[in-house]
Amino acid sequence: METVFSKIIEGTIPAHKVYENERILAFYDIEPAAPVHVLIIPKKFIASMNEVTPEDLPLIAEIHSVAQQLARELGIAESGYRLINNCGPDSGQAVPHLHYHLLGGTKLGALVG
Ligand code: C5P
Repeated sequence: METVFSKIIEGTIPAHKVYENERILAFYDIEPAAPVHVLIIPKKFIASMNEVTPEDLPLIAEIHSVAQQLARELGIAESGYRLINNCGPDSGQAVPHLHYHLLGGTKLGALVG
């Protein structure tokens, strides 16, 4: 399925990339919700968390590893950060291509609890 993120992966829509390998791309969110706001996406098309299969789990683990590395490189590892996946309408997921928001650089408000 073609989405704005598949176009970013193809290079037909520009993005400020911060990490890329054969499987994963990370780029700055165009509407940052925090001083550091990066999106981490698999290059493989997966519409949402609901479509993740057991075969995808190494990819999901690698996304966590990339998030950890980026948090260090972007200087938010010690102060703290949040890794968020929105899945489905109630979450506000706007782009139907699996993605994780890496947010930090300020005190983040509580979402729950
Ligand atoms: O989780 P959700 O689907 O709501 O997040 C999509 C995110 O993709 C938004 O934060 C939006 O700003 C971002 N986006 C982007 N570059 C685009 C289109 C959307 O960074 N070209």
